[in-house]
Amino acid sequence: MAEPRYLLRTFGCQMNEHDSERIAGLLTADGYVATEEAADANVVVFNTCAIRENADNRLYGNLGHLRPLKQANPRMRIVVAGCLAQKDGGTIRERAPWVDVVVGTHALPGLIELLHRAETEGPQLDVREQTEIFPSALPALREVAHHAWVSIAVGCDNACTFCIVPLVRGPQLSRPIGDVLAEVQGLARRGVVEITLLGQNVNTYGRDLTVPRSAQRPLFADLLRAVNRVEGLRRIRFTSPHPHDFTPDVIDAMAESDKVCEHIHFPLQSGSDRVLRAMHRSYRRERYLGWLERIRAAIPGIAVSTDIIVGFPGESEEDFEDTLDVVRRARFDQAYTFQYSPRPGTRAAEMEGQLDKPEVQERFDRLVALQEAIALERMREQVGSSAEVLIEGLGRKGGAQGRTRGNRVVHVGGEHAPGTFLDVRIVGAHPHHLEGELAERREHAAVG
Ligand code: SF4
Repeated sequence: MAEPRYLLRTFGCQMNEHDSERIAGLLTADGYVATEEAADANVVVFNTCAIRENADNRLYGNLGHLRPLKQANPRMRIVVAGCLAQKDGGTIRERAPWVDVVVGTHALPGLIELLHRAETEGPQLDVREQTEIFPSALPALREVAHHAWVSIAVGCDNACTFCIVPLVRGPQLSRPIGDVLAEVQGLARRGVVEITLLGQNVNTYGRDLTVPRSAQRPLFADLLRAVNRVEGLRRIRFTSPHPHDFTPDVIDAMAESDKVCEHIHFPLQSGSDRVLRAMHRSYRRERYLGWLERIRAAIPGIAVSTDIIVGFPGESEEDFEDTLDVVRRARFDQAYTFQYSPRPGTRAAEMEGQLDKPEVQERFDRLVALQEAIALERMREQVGSSAEVLIEGLGRKGGAQGRTRGNRVVHVGGEHAPGTFLDVRIVGAHPHHLEGELAERREHAAVG
């Protein structure tokens, strides 16, 4: 008999990518193989995001497309997982009764049992409020052999007024340092050379942990240093630190740890103190810029990326000018820019002063134009330098594509397998990628 097949679609952030690797791992351990065709699939899983605009419309659109397939093949099982499942729970089955399993972010370990129960008992819903088993402890099936996401904490204790995460992922729960290290050591033994440590706010890692017979809790800097000692690993990344909770010992740990890459994602969100207050982000613009200065002084050449929201409720032209001013002074290598749109369930959605779309669009275009010009300048500064590039896959215009330690995308000619390290000379610059020429090929190749 042919093996059962699953189709998995992932929406949203790296946390969802990480959870999808676990969903794929659980299904594989239960005998399923992956397919890209919904018509072929015995199980279709949507791992959903509640943050992006129109996330629910997109989900119901996708579910609508599946309906005729489900009618033709009633044995097909449809699963909705992730943040929307956690947030909307039973509403999903009310709007799309052909869904078989709704599994929230905390209930992922029970996915296979829910699927089996759906066979005999009908539709299943599990949107429990607390994580009992860390998703990272589950078997994973990763799309690439050389890189892995490693979750160090789930949930968040902050309450940014635009964000749905605390509602759907709950308060922060840190993973014991020994468990993180054991996972990273195992990954390195299996040929993973690059890891990204994941948490909503990595700087508060460990605050909720206790260590037997010790008054000290492990902090994020301790974790960075410990992971840096894992043999076989070549690159360590992390996302995201919160400017409010940033501490000098993290800068020291980054500077001392040779495997920690020279890149930091440091979310600004707004350059206006008034808007930061309304967002409930408890740092201010000068403090943010002060941190950047210290980070750049300690780690020369570090690349900095950020997130910026335009058009938060009540944002005035003056507030927006403050954001442009910080962008000019910070000279980000990359910025993920978003137009504010209200997310049901967040405090910002209820605030007065919601701006009109054309006004937000006009500001957004100005911000993007400024940031693109800065990004190009920053990229041009790289031309003529040498860089180590870790190949990730095919380039869009032929050749291969990889990333420097500074997380800059580089296109290189020729065929190179994912997981290969190359030494390249940077010969061309664009706002979002560099062009490189091969200097020397290193011997490392990823383990398949
Ligand atoms: S720090 Fe703020 S934006 Fe980030 S996950 Fe927590 S509440 Fe959301």
